[in-house]
Amino acid sequence: MLNIILFGAPGSGKGTQSKILLQNHQLEYISMGDILRQQIAQQTPLGLEAKALIDKGQLVPDDLIIKILEKRMAEAKTTNGFLFDGYPRTLAQAEILEQLLTKMGTSLSYFISLEVPEEELTKRLLNRAKIEGRSDDTKEVIEQRFKEYEAKTKPVKDYFAQKGKMIQIVGTGTEADVAERLDNILRK
Ligand code: ADP
Repeated sequence: MLNIILFGAPGSGKGTQSKILLQNHQLEYISMGDILRQQIAQQTPLGLEAKALIDKGQLVPDDLIIKILEKRMAEAKTTNGFLFDGYPRTLAQAEILEQLLTKMGTSLSYFISLEVPEEELTKRLLNRAKIEGRSDDTKEVIEQRFKEYEAKTKPVKDYFAQKGKMIQIVGTGTEADVAERLDNILRK
């Protein structure tokens, strides 16, 4: 199985690159942000709880996120592998994912970190706000998301780096530029 975590700060292009990657690789795509937004749109109890936090730029609690992940992975029929976008965002989430993969008799193939300077991230997110109107893409909420990222999510990158699994790629340039860098890694 090819199991990939696409990692990066808010606005780093995880969603965009995931979509390109899925054109060439038949992977089960798990986007935690998309799943949460779907729950919000359907106004489920989970969605309502998540919305209150997401709109403040805070992470959704691990126990809820882990439940979603377990369910999604159990439902998946893939034999090719998984592409994780927006998961894991905390160390606890990272450890659970490794356990679930081990239980399935597989493991993480790549942890790929998209590197984009914060200035550029803010620009992209504010631009996306104009196009998509996501309720968490306002200046104040973006700042809070960066704070959460620094405090809780960045340690996940160090965790996989210590295991020798972390690969950084430059996340600036055109979407095609970044896609090519990603492709180069997966070809190896
Ligand atoms: P981005 O990476 O652009 O910030 P996402 O669409 O991946 O956006 O996630 C949007 C929001 O959903 C996050 O700011 C967070 O509040 C919540 N969220 C998504 N994934 C997770 C996760 N794995 N753990 C906790 N909260 C999450």
